[in-house]
Amino acid sequence: MSQLWRIAVEAPLPEALTYASDFDVKRGSFVEVPLGKRSAQGLVLGPTSEVPNFEIKKVYSTKKDYPILPESFVKWLEWVSDYYLYPPGLVAGAVLPPLEPSKKERASKRPPVIPLLEQTSWPELTEEQQAVFESMTSVSGFQTHLLFGVTGSGKTEVYLKLLQEILKKNKSGIVLVPEISLTPQLLHRFASRFGDQVAVIHSQLTEREKTNQWWDVVSGRKRILIGARSALFCPLPDLGIIIVDEEHEPSYKQDEKLKYHGRDSAIMLGKLSACPVVLGSATPSMESWKNAMDGKYKLQRMGQRVQNRALPVVKVVDLKLNKEEQQKRKDLGLDLPSWMSLELYQALTKSQLNGEQAALFLNRRGVAQVVSCPSCGFVVECPNCDISLTLHGKNHLVCHYCDYTEVLKASCTSCKEGELKPLGVGTEQVETDVARLFPKARIARADRDEVQSRLEMEELIQKMENHEIDILIGTQMIAKGLDFPKLNTVGLVLADIGFNLPDFRASERSFQLMTQVAGRAGRHVRPGQNPGEVIIQTLNPQHVSISHAIHHDFESFAQQELQDRSALNYPPLGKLVSFRLQGNQLSQVEKAAHALAHRARQLQQRFSAYTNVEVLGPAEAAIAKLRGKFRYHLLLKGPRNQTLNQITRQMISDESWLPSGVQIVIDVDPLHLL
Ligand code: ADP
Ligand code: ZN
Repeated sequence: MSQLWRIAVEAPLPEALTYASDFDVKRGSFVEVPLGKRSAQGLVLGPTSEVPNFEIKKVYSTKKDYPILPESFVKWLEWVSDYYLYPPGLVAGAVLPPLEPSKKERASKRPPVIPLLEQTSWPELTEEQQAVFESMTSVSGFQTHLLFGVTGSGKTEVYLKLLQEILKKNKSGIVLVPEISLTPQLLHRFASRFGDQVAVIHSQLTEREKTNQWWDVVSGRKRILIGARSALFCPLPDLGIIIVDEEHEPSYKQDEKLKYHGRDSAIMLGKLSACPVVLGSATPSMESWKNAMDGKYKLQRMGQRVQNRALPVVKVVDLKLNKEEQQKRKDLGLDLPSWMSLELYQALTKSQLNGEQAALFLNRRGVAQVVSCPSCGFVVECPNCDISLTLHGKNHLVCHYCDYTEVLKASCTSCKEGELKPLGVGTEQVETDVARLFPKARIARADRDEVQSRLEMEELIQKMENHEIDILIGTQMIAKGLDFPKLNTVGLVLADIGFNLPDFRASERSFQLMTQVAGRAGRHVRPGQNPGEVIIQTLNPQHVSISHAIHHDFESFAQQELQDRSALNYPPLGKLVSFRLQGNQLSQVEKAAHALAHRARQLQQRFSAYTNVEVLGPAEAAIAKLRGKFRYHLLLKGPRNQTLNQITRQMISDESWLPSGVQIVIDVDPLHLL
């Protein structure tokens, strides 16, 4: 009989399947195999002598066009599948590009994926940058470095220098950035240093573009790959470094299907490839900070902005209007909307007089978050989701979760008496109000309603750079990575939005947002000039994340936060696995959730290894209904990943008890608990 092989077939199967092959295949090669009546792609994991108790089929063919994956990379794919409890064939399926390789280049009307730019000169590293660079390059093999540098300290410059070293050694490097900060500004910076050595992979490329970029790096024609988290699945030859910029960004965690964390997976890939991993941030995640404190990561600090540019002055303004404040406004003859403090108004006025730029951030789109009836308290909600509808324009109600829309009716559909009124402010309303208060200012808005493509974002950035915009209003879309010389005044319209989310990371997120937003201000102010100014408006000026953010004091914040979390064993002290049960029938979902919790508790009683595992719930999810599906969740908390992984496998080893209309979605190290 011919040799048997374990093959991870691209299908939702928990294990690899066994096939025979008449010709030579190798661990790491892609093949076509029969699966039921169809043909499917698979990754060969290795030979096996175990004869399965089903009819063994034969491999159809090898996919010769594709390279055999390096051993380290196959090991990494296996780790991803095991750790995140996701079918190995679907993990392997993320490796190959969307299209077959093209034999001839087709002329395309789209602009080049990466602009070809004049090469710029390299600035001399500052002392801090040089020290960090030397410390990082003095270690050989695998080591994770946490580059903790304030905004504007020149982290990107350090990445560039590290990559230059990698190129000298004829190796390749991956730079991961959050999708949202894959801005043209960043790409230009890399392209102008490394020219045609740079490839990029992100969600806005066409399938052909993605395929071409994939081949450019896999073939070794280009040695630097910049991309969102999915770039990790590109098997670069001779991997010499992985850089994860803004490592704290929650968007590194994929929310659907394979729920992997780009940063954590990058560290494992670095470990298996024996290369360094650099995590950069001005506000590291609590996970990374703890690892650095424990000595698992090497902490690399940069505490100064380059050329001694000053950090902006941060002012916190209480938005609750007292009598005195109201009188002041009256005396000045000002009619300010309730979301705008006098301080913010004055800062904007000053910025306009000085011929500078200003930006206002608000992580809420639309005109109003909630439309409700003052007589009976009725709130207009989405029929598919447990979420209120947001007002856009004059009378357009939209669900931000499922895109359901309806027209705003004048009177309340519940009590039929009251008149529906919008509450809470969104970017659209901010734009309208600012236009009224500053009729001469050129105003632009950047949110998902206004800016939908990369090209539109590029245009907007160009306009900011050319100073064709005086006041920019936007969501988190503009909170990250951007660098504008004349942007000296920044306002955070309402810092409170994240404070009270039912999520133990709420304070961390708020602190990060405030620091990132503030980091956009005054990036090019020379020593001796007025530093940038940041106004944080809030209804809770005493909130912990605010008091630390004013002083740019990440370390005190982190210390406090880790202490708070240790009391309840929340990550990074403990580990979590979440189970979401969802289905069209509430009673079924609820029953299944209780049954699953019961299984977990039974396992705990049977095995002493699980005594440290806490089973929390089941409970209705914070968003109890989404896109027509009812949601319950169950949380496991424990000191070790491995233990949680084991009990999880046992809990779902048999799903015969599960009603057919209910689905279990498992999330290892969940970031979003809604
Ligand atoms: P970060 O990534 O830490 O926010 P950047 O790398 O974007 O910081 O640097 C901030 C600004 O300082 C950029 O405009 C950059 O061009 C400039 N810069 C960085 N390093 C140097 C250096 N060694 N000499 C001169 N300018 C620098
Ligand atoms: Zn909805």
